[in-house]
Amino acid sequence: MIKYSLKCSNNHYFESWFKSVSDYDRLEAANLLSCTICESSQIQKELMAPNVPAKNRAGHSPEFETAVKAAKESLKGAKNVGWQFANEARAIHYGDKEEKPIYGRTEPSEALDLIKEGINIAPLPFDPDAKDN
Ligand SMILES: [Zn+2]
Repeated sequence: MIKYSLKCSNNHYFESWFKSVSDYDRLEAANLLSCTICESSQIQKELMAPNVPAKNRAGHSPEFETAVKAAKESLKGAKNVGWQFANEARAIHYGDKEEKPIYGRTEPSEALDLIKEGINIAPLPFDPDAKDN
């Protein structure tokens, strides 16, 4: 089914459902379309709002789901250091702390600084603290 917004020659706007694009064209060609308000048969198509099938529940692509899965896998055994992430990452990088896998939160500007300092970090494609993870 396709929904069209239609406009008549008297500037009345209304919506109508059609089985397909050709169904609309057929009705229009046969002058079978009329305004629901003034019954004018001078009808114009305004814009199309096709019925898009819903993606999976979160609206994410399979590629995204794969990336999330891989990232979750890499977090196994890693420590969540929360907002201490930048400090911890630096401490490990500069040898002040024992090397260990960590993850956490940081401001985007801080993350850029870490990368500039040559610290190997990567953004997570999901929120590790979210309850449903
Ligand atoms: Zn009308």
